[in-house]
Amino acid sequence: MKAIQAAKIMKKIMADHFLDLDRAAKEGKPKVAWCTSVGPAELLRGMGFLVYFPENHGAMLGATRMATEFIPVANAMGYSPEICSYLTSDVGAFLKKTTPLTKAYGIEAVPKPDVLVFNTNQCRDVKDWFAWYARELQVPLVGIHSYRNIGAITHHEIADIAEQIKGLIPTLEAVSGEKFDLDRFKETVRLSRDTSRLWRTVLETAAAVPSPWTFFDATIHMGPAVVARGTQEAVDYYQVLLAELEQRVKDGVAAIEGEQHRLYWEGMPIWGKLRPLSDLFESLKTCVVASTYCNSWIFDQLDPAEPFESMARAYTELFIVRDEGFKEGYIEDCFRRFKFDGIVFHDARTCPNNSNSRYGMPERLAEKLGIAVLTINGDLNDLRCYSEEQAKTQIEAFVEQLEERR
Ligand code: SF4
Repeated sequence: MKAIQAAKIMKKIMADHFLDLDRAAKEGKPKVAWCTSVGPAELLRGMGFLVYFPENHGAMLGATRMATEFIPVANAMGYSPEICSYLTSDVGAFLKKTTPLTKAYGIEAVPKPDVLVFNTNQCRDVKDWFAWYARELQVPLVGIHSYRNIGAITHHEIADIAEQIKGLIPTLEAVSGEKFDLDRFKETVRLSRDTSRLWRTVLETAAAVPSPWTFFDATIHMGPAVVARGTQEAVDYYQVLLAELEQRVKDGVAAIEGEQHRLYWEGMPIWGKLRPLSDLFESLKTCVVASTYCNSWIFDQLDPAEPFESMARAYTELFIVRDEGFKEGYIEDCFRRFKFDGIVFHDARTCPNNSNSRYGMPERLAEKLGIAVLTINGDLNDLRCYSEEQAKTQIEAFVEQLEERR
């Protein structure tokens, strides 16, 4: 895989993000809010909070392969091995007073929250996860209860979610000790929208043949879109990354030398196996050009002129919130844009919410689009659910099948 120069800037943004949080948690100001990854981050940032995302920490536990050690700690407390392994590994690591932030940034412990804010748009697990911390740390817990598995979204749903977002303000004011400032909030929404627009454009550079980068690159470079949306740093970063990728496209630089096949990755990354998977696809001259996962942080519905309603729309029109019909239409659109010849569905054992192979979708899409599909079993963090040998054999056979179809 070719190194991306902008990575240096990204690493600094991520380091600053965690070091600022660490400092704030120690000094007691600014206040720290924990937020679910597709939760109302703009409201929190727009009210002066520094925002920490436990799912991002969960992904770090997965990527560093520390997760598998901590999951049993949460299991022993009654949190099933079948539920979200971000939750179980994160809670387990907390109880064991361990965090990958120590090795990465010299930070001793995760930054203690002043408030916990969830949105159930992605799953119920996030609420249960935050509820554990609310009890453990005696911190207020507030959130938004979203609709799930919906097709068309109506005005009623948007109005309801917008009201729920507004309803968070009194608690957040009480925690921060600051009055809500509409202009500051609007400015954060604008910055988040600009970040999202750039993130979309960056992802869409992979429509070029050959693609200038892969899904595996994008899982790393999505960091600022997740943790720093709503900041000028994130906007600046994606301008730099975009320029680099556009230059690659202009120069015909391929992420995968001699690109022969193009794939779509559906479902969660297998965080502890990104490198071997990336190497495997590279050896097969196959580029994973697009994914549902990386697209999930595009919130370009955001509009500073209608901050509450547009936030409600952005956080309800998400792929994960929608029904099978919408999801299939979405992947079809991606198929036209990214010109892939197959889809790999990752059936993540502990995340039914982000596993879309369980109700016949691969078979329907294969027939409709005339492309090959493959389902591999694994998990986002629990590597006990993943057989590397089996996945390797399946992927090699799948690429052979693509060869035969050419
Ligand atoms: S969507 Fe899946 S991975 Fe994300 S928090 Fe929920 S259960 Fe965990």
